[in-house]
Amino acid sequence: MLTYSNWIQGAAAPSPSGKTFETRNPADNREAVASYPLSERGDAENAIASAAAAFPAWAGQTSVARGRVLSKASTLLEARKAQLAELLTREEGKTLAEATGEVQRAVDIFRFFGGLSYTLGGQTIPHDLPQNLLYTRREPLGVVGLITPWNFPIAIPAWKLAPALVCGNTVALKPASQAPAMACELARILTEAGLPPGVFNVVIGEGRAVGGVLATDPRVVAMSFTGSHSVGHGVYQQLAQRMARAQMEMGGKNPTLVLADADLDLAASLVSRAGFGLTGQACTATSRVIVERSVLAVFTEKLIAKAQALKVGPGLQAGVEMGPAVNAQELQGNLDHIEGAVREGAKLLTGGQRITDGDLRHGFFMQPSVMGNVTPEMKIAREEVFGPVVAVIAVDSFDEALRVANDVNVGLSASVVTRDFRKALLYAERIQAGVVKVNQISTGLALQAPFGGVKQSSTDSFKEQGAGAVEFYSKLKTIYLDYSV
Ligand code: NAD
Repeated sequence: MLTYSNWIQGAAAPSPSGKTFETRNPADNREAVASYPLSERGDAENAIASAAAAFPAWAGQTSVARGRVLSKASTLLEARKAQLAELLTREEGKTLAEATGEVQRAVDIFRFFGGLSYTLGGQTIPHDLPQNLLYTRREPLGVVGLITPWNFPIAIPAWKLAPALVCGNTVALKPASQAPAMACELARILTEAGLPPGVFNVVIGEGRAVGGVLATDPRVVAMSFTGSHSVGHGVYQQLAQRMARAQMEMGGKNPTLVLADADLDLAASLVSRAGFGLTGQACTATSRVIVERSVLAVFTEKLIAKAQALKVGPGLQAGVEMGPAVNAQELQGNLDHIEGAVREGAKLLTGGQRITDGDLRHGFFMQPSVMGNVTPEMKIAREEVFGPVVAVIAVDSFDEALRVANDVNVGLSASVVTRDFRKALLYAERIQAGVVKVNQISTGLALQAPFGGVKQSSTDSFKEQGAGAVEFYSKLKTIYLDYSV
């Protein structure tokens, strides 16, 4: 079993609490993966103090110098890709192929923001008068707090951390307790890459106790959070008290529309990948399929076949296509959602059971599940499940499909499968979502493009990812200079 500590002042920092907790392999609960400190208020305060002390010197470096550290970290991460991916799979459960893709994403993110460091700057603006210079400077904010979920334990910290650091901020990160190893590894690698002590700090522990300190400490001037709506909403209230800058990215109930003219094999394949890939534990996973009634039967049959053909098992085993739920609570939550849907009149078309064959009984495995007869009012059509459960809703027209798709209080990702260019463009125009995919899976993002939700999926004031990510992590100062005198 591995042992990790908090990372404060550029070194491992055990918690004076002396209390620890373990993560266990979701594919085989008999295996302890790593031990962590159960930090207390004082640890989080130390992380913030360390970040505050490191701020002036880090902010005083040029963005190009900061970018060099990120580029070096990218190289170091890449060299350890295989080892990190295996650890990610052991701790979080996704398949090795999925974990490898995620680590590669972190590699690319650090490379991207390392390169972007050469472009960070302000703007010159024409002045009304001659011999006057009017320009803006992009400046860091100070200590930034990051709170991240377990489902992308390296990609999400990376996509917040890289723009935060390149802009000159210092950071205190609280990763989710289900899978903190990747955040600890990132801290080690960044330190090895030359990040000065105190610039990046990691504090591990219970959400309310540790995350609560980051949310309320006045030294934390901005917070980027990704997680559930209920927690994000609470953290936002705490930040609002002191008007700290806030970026909250939360859950979705992502629709894929299957229109009557769609290639139904393609549609079934896209929905299966977007609904069951990553065990459905992606914020952009397809959880509602809205299908025109004329193709409902044929499409549903194809989707069921896809679900039944998926090989479920431990993510480290060759050929496995879907891993376990991250823990017993998530597994039970998924099964409860299915049971509740059946009580409301939905029909379980395939799946719905925990898998307990042989050694799989030691893990949190379940069958990929498809629910039919779902109506838009049912909970299964409105509440995030965060597991491999797809609800099929029948509609009579494109207009009705669009209405149903928009009739939820979240809007993260949305997909449509059609050959009709006009409908695809109308969908892109009218769907209430931050990301729209046409003939593509609802999951999967380009790191160079903006990402974020609308409605209750996000505070929607700043986007994550892409070059625009620096907007959240920096502020502009406007300078007027008269050289006619
Ligand atoms: P969660 O809200 O339970 O936890 C997120 C983080 O908040 C964790 O680090 C947790 O320890 C911390 N936390 C918990 N209580 C806290 C409190 N009172 N104060 C401060 N911090 C606290 O979410 P999760 O289960 O880790 O992740 C799953 C959720 O994340 C899903 O809803 C999913 O849709 C969402 N998500 C969204 C995106 C996105 O980009 N929009 C990406 C991935 C996941």
